[in-house]
Parts: sequence; C-alpha cells; structure tokens
Amino acid sequence: SSRRGVRGNFVPPVRSTGGTAGNMVNSRIGGKGEDTLDDSTKRCLDMLCGPDDELPEKLRNLEPRLIEHVSNEIMDRDPNVRWDDIAGLEHAKKCVTEMVIWPLLRPDIFKGCRSPGRGLLLFGPPGTGKTMIGKAIAGEAKATFFYISASSLTSKWIGEGEKLVRALFGVASCRQPAVIFVDEIDSLLSQRKSEGEHESSRRLKTQFLIEMEGFDNGSEQILLIGATNRPQELDEAARRRLTKRLYIPLPSSEARAWIVRNLLEKDGLFKLSKDEIDTICTLTEGYSGSDMKNLVKDASMGPLREALQQGTDITLLKKEDMRPVNLKDFESAMQEVRPSVSLSELGTYNEWNKQFGSLS
Ligand code: ADP
Repeated sequence: SSRRGVRGNFVPPVRSTGGTAGNMVNSRIGGKGEDTLDDSTKRCLDMLCGPDDELPEKLRNLEPRLIEHVSNEIMDRDPNVRWDDIAGLEHAKKCVTEMVIWPLLRPDIFKGCRSPGRGLLLFGPPGTGKTMIGKAIAGEAKATFFYISASSLTSKWIGEGEKLVRALFGVASCRQPAVIFVDEIDSLLSQRKSEGEHESSRRLKTQFLIEMEGFDNGSEQILLIGATNRPQELDEAARRRLTKRLYIPLPSSEARAWIVRNLLEKDGLFKLSKDEIDTICTLTEGYSGSDMKNLVKDASMGPLREALQQGTDITLLKKEDMRPVNLKDFESAMQEVRPSVSLSELGTYNEWNKQFGSLS
C-alpha cells in the first residue's frame, strides 16, 4: 500500500533504526489519518518535517493538535527583548552570558570540561525581569523561545500535561538551539505532597524530569530555564537538575531611575529634573520592575486628568498643550500603586540564595 505524508506526497517507508514500535510513518501520527487534519495543522507538521518529508522520531505518536499548540501558542517566533531593555541585574546578565549564550553560540568550544549546565533557575520576587531575561537569552543566542506556565499544565491541560510536555520537548528538539522557559516551575517540581496528589501530576513531574535528563547528555542544544518566586518549594531532584540558580532581586535605585526614564523617553514625555528623579527613587524603595512600570503608567495619566478636570474637551485636547509629567504625578500615583513584595518575603529569598544560589 502506498504511504502518504502530510504534504500529500509519496513517502518512502521509514528506514528502521532499531525496529522499535515508535517507528511509525507520519501519516499515522496519533493513530489518525491525515485526512482528518485541517490545513493549519498540516502546515504546522510540514514545517517540522525533515527534507525527507518524515516527521522527526520524537514527534511521532503524538497528537497533531498538541504539536500544533506547541508550535503556535508556546513557541514565540519573536521574543523581541534585548539585554539593553533590562534595567540593572548586571550580575545575572554576566552569569547568563557566560553560562548560556556563549555555549549556544559556540557549541564546538563548550565541550567536555566546558560543557554547560542545561538547567538554569531564576528565582526572586515577581515582576523583576525573569521572563525578560529568558526572552533576551533566546534573542541574543538566536535560539527559538518556548514559554509555558507550569500551572497551565496542571490546570488547563488536566490529564494531558504529560503528552504536552513530550510535544514541547519534541518540537524544541526540532528547533535547536532552543530555550524552554517554564514559569512557576515550583508548581510542577514542588516537594510538597499536596493532599491527594494525583497520580496524573506525579506522572507529569516524572515525564518532565525524564525529558530533562534526555537532553542533559550534551548532544542537544536545548536550555531549560525555570522561573519561580517560591524557590523554597523546589525539591532536591529539581535543584539537582537546575544546576545554576540565579537570584533576580528587586531593582536597585539606579535601575528604578532607568525604568522611569526609559519608559517616559519612549513616549517623549521625559522632562523630570535630577532632583525629581532622585526623590522618586527614594520613595520607591521596595518597588519591583513591574510595580515601577505600573507607577509610570499611572503618573503619565496625571497631566491628562488635570487638563480634563479643567474642563478641556478630550476630543479637542492638543497633545502639545499638555504639561509634562512631574513629581506630583508620581507622588499621587504612589497612593494607587503600592509595592507588591513584602520585606519578609525578601528575607526568604536571601536565605535561600545563601544556601542554594549561585553566588559567584
Ligand atoms: P517576572 O518574570 O520576574 O515575574 P517579568 O520579566 O515578566 O517579571 O517583568 C514584568 C514587566 O515588568 C516587564 O514586562 C517589564 O515591563 C517590567 N520589568 C521588570 N523587571 C524589569 C527590569 N529589570 N528592567 C526593565 N523592566 C522590567
């Protein structure tokens, strides 16, 4: 009988690479005939097929809709973040460049003794730039970026998480070099035996660890980045696989100033004096990067609100008539936007960092 590939072309029988049962032709993926696939799924599978029109081994036996979901929703074709967009975090940037970016750019040099770890943990308070770092790594290393929130595996993909994880690592292996960013990784690799921990979530965790072992042998150009604001919940197995653990702290005063300036300058709204900026930095001790962004957003509404209060009709308002954003706008924004991280939480991060963090 003739075999048809996803492109509808004739596909020669697959060369046997050991005769395992997994050696199926792509026309039988997931046991479904390709006639039942819609065009977008076919296109997606086409892109993953090798020159010989075969689906790579790792993707066979997986349901096409999972592969499609990974390709369209989890894979980010244009992460669009550069190092220069990230304020502060000099230490983290330096570590990451050496540990991750150089090895992805020059795998030939980073072999043997120099072979890099395949797992990186970014931990610290929410909204401090962990996701930005992940995207920037992919951008700088010209790698494909995959983003998944671990909690979606357990909530949205109930019972299917395991299969989705296989699809994720499978597609990543076709798209090397690749960076897989797993947000809230604690919810996947937590040491807590949640009450009545389901068989399915244990299997999910096991599958995930197996996939990680799979590319840890150095032959694959895949980096796994886990991000968490609850590092203390990770168990020993998770820590062992995430060999480098970087603390991503709250932004310093200089970094906060940089965020304010950068956001306002983008819109041509930056007119603050040095003194005003200094005051803003003093008053925002404890704000995260994303708190700062929300603060700037709120403050930049100040001039507009004032003009409208004075009776200007918004449809007639001229942009050039609006006054610049000033310190007062920031002070009233601070009433609305409060720091989202508490002092006691910071203590926990520092402790964990001392015990398990990569301090160098
Ligand atoms: P996390 O992953 O640590 O929770 P994100 O990287 O998603 O935080 O940051 C959320 C938003 O906050 C970013 O899109 C950015 O606007 C802002 N932000 C956070 N940290 C920084 C930083 N260091 N430099 C510039 N912007 C930042």
